[in-house]
Amino acid sequence: MDNLKFIIEDYVDEKYGFRFPTINVYINNQNLISLVEEIEQRNRILRGEEPSHSHYIGHDPRYSHDFRDEFLGLQSRPYSVLLTCTCTFAECNCIMAKIAVVDKFVVWREIKSPWLSSNSPSPWVEEDIALGLGWMPYDYSDLGPFIFAKRTYMDALNWITARIQLFRFIAAFDRGTY
Ligand SMILES: [Zn+2]
Repeated sequence: MDNLKFIIEDYVDEKYGFRFPTINVYINNQNLISLVEEIEQRNRILRGEEPSHSHYIGHDPRYSHDFRDEFLGLQSRPYSVLLTCTCTFAECNCIMAKIAVVDKFVVWREIKSPWLSSNSPSPWVEEDIALGLGWMPYDYSDLGPFIFAKRTYMDALNWITARIQLFRFIAAFDRGTY
């Protein structure tokens, strides 16, 4: 059984000197960003590409309206967005998964970036068409699937949902909308 933890930590942009809170996802006490980076780095090396850093961040708790639904697999898209590009737009790049609540378990499978690859034509091209055009997606098969006990998963989700509400309230207060 895998273990899930959400932790709010600041994303710090050292180059441009700004910071904002993000929801980091820890699986078995390892940051999901590091787990993804390991897999993507291995893909780059196997392809003979230059090693380079992956660019992902967790959701910003001030603007994560659908975080709970997203992590219960209840969003309208087939995939849940776990991490976004550092520019905060999931449409730019993201790490996504299929999340399903099955009996007493929550299962994450098919974890991957939808677009990342040296030959990815564009985010707006269907996957099978892209494959036909020579798209060679990275192999994320060593990442997951992860299986969590529903009870502890809901504890983690309830905890972060309360924090998100607090962050959103403070952000709205700062904007003077309360
Ligand atoms: Zn981006």
